[in-house]
Amino acid sequence: MIDYIKIQNLPTRSEMKKILMSKLACKDYGFECDFEASSLDARDSIKEFQAHTLKMHHIDYSDGAMLQLMTQKENRIF
Ligand SMILES: [Zn+2]
Repeated sequence: MIDYIKIQNLPTRSEMKKILMSKLACKDYGFECDFEASSLDARDSIKEFQAHTLKMHHIDYSDGAMLQLMTQKENRIF
């Protein structure tokens, strides 16, 4: 049995799968904006989205905040 360290604030494996399959679109996060991150690589999409929200919406999302946003979107918390 493999024992691994669970780091706080990191998504679980199943959450990560959902994140990798989800598309990053401003509309999904409450912005009135047609921007969608188009990179095929999820990490590039996140970077693309972060650059966009910073430039256009003046919101600086950290990597952790992005992961939280994406998992919350999937769970429909808000
Ligand atoms: Zn936008």
